[in-house]
Amino acid sequence: MTIAGRDALIVGSGRATIILPMGTQLTIEDALLYPESTRTLLSYKDIRKNGLHVETHVDNKEEFIFFTRLTGSSKQVCEKIPSLESRLYYTYIKPISNVAYKVIFQNVNSFQTWHDRLGHPGIGMMRKIICNSFGHNLHKAKFPQSSDFICTACASGKLILRPSTLKIRAEPLKFLERIQGDICGPIQPICGPFRYFMVLIDASTRWSHVSLLSTRNHAFAKILSQLIKLKAHYPEHRIQSIRMDNAAEFSSHAFNDYCMATGIEVQHSVPYVHTQNGLAESLIKRIKLIARPMLMNCKLPTSCWGHAVLHAAELIQLRPTAYHENSPLQLVRGNPPSISHLRKFGCAVYVPISPPQRTSMGPHRKLGIYVGFTSPSIIKYIEPLTGDLFTAWFADCIFNEDHFRH
Ligand SMILES: [Zn+2]
Repeated sequence: MTIAGRDALIVGSGRATIILPMGTQLTIEDALLYPESTRTLLSYKDIRKNGLHVETHVDNKEEFIFFTRLTGSSKQVCEKIPSLESRLYYTYIKPISNVAYKVIFQNVNSFQTWHDRLGHPGIGMMRKIICNSFGHNLHKAKFPQSSDFICTACASGKLILRPSTLKIRAEPLKFLERIQGDICGPIQPICGPFRYFMVLIDASTRWSHVSLLSTRNHAFAKILSQLIKLKAHYPEHRIQSIRMDNAAEFSSHAFNDYCMATGIEVQHSVPYVHTQNGLAESLIKRIKLIARPMLMNCKLPTSCWGHAVLHAAELIQLRPTAYHENSPLQLVRGNPPSISHLRKFGCAVYVPISPPQRTSMGPHRKLGIYVGFTSPSIIKYIEPLTGDLFTAWFADCIFNEDHFRH
């Protein structure tokens, strides 16, 4: 607990116990007591240390933060904290002596929005992405301190367990010189016809491509179509080798013939020696680490994991890796990517109804659930009643990023 007033006299420090309006008791270690100040800053960290969770809520167009506590499987709202016009949050606390202190929370709204849209990267990674992209309204200098920023989705533990960074020797490879691939699955429940996802990653730039598969036998057909696309897109870069893990037991004549004819060496890594294919394997881990909380944070069922996986894969393309200052997307395309088209996964989107279905007196928009994009100008959405996937022009859509979200 710190005081925002100037020239405040510190009369003591130590453990403080305060009581919030709805009776929640908070204990703050290392609190500083400034009796003359009327404003006190309470950090999210201090609140979290008391076993409480912090969540934002909009009620009747007014913004609140809720302090919640999990008891068994149910969630109890312990405190409801209103916001000021300056978009800070405030409440009154009762310390041991019956003096009421006003508590101000630092606003982190815009940061939180982009943190969410980008798939919950840590503050260090946020800084890297923001410096290497445009189309956002964030300033690096105004980033919150990591101790002041607590995201409930991250704090639920799913993103704290990061994969150990695999020590892969940075090899001086050219773009597309070596592609590594791996397959993840089978995944339960089935997502439409899909049970697997396959990743392909370029060992040089870390550019990657992810596709959903219904059976593992489809892997080679998918790789083949991707190789043909790459050759057409980047004729000046020669694909020299492709290294597959987990697919060694499958083979396809068409694939082998194609690789032989085009001079691509197909390598199968030794079973159970996964480090040979560490890049593809760690990409799968990173995708899962982003996709899983993204899905949990919205109201889509688990069977929509395929959309979350594809969106997470797009977001990873924006993240600079430990080996390069720039993101894979920038390395391949040559200039920093715009991220202005990103929205929160699983949020509400109002899509225009096309003329054949639209009546002059009926509604002109229908509700969809945003699940990503196929290009910066085209979004993908799910029709909530049928679960069917559609696309729409980004420019025609109206988003409500706080709707359908936990
Ligand atoms: Zn987060």
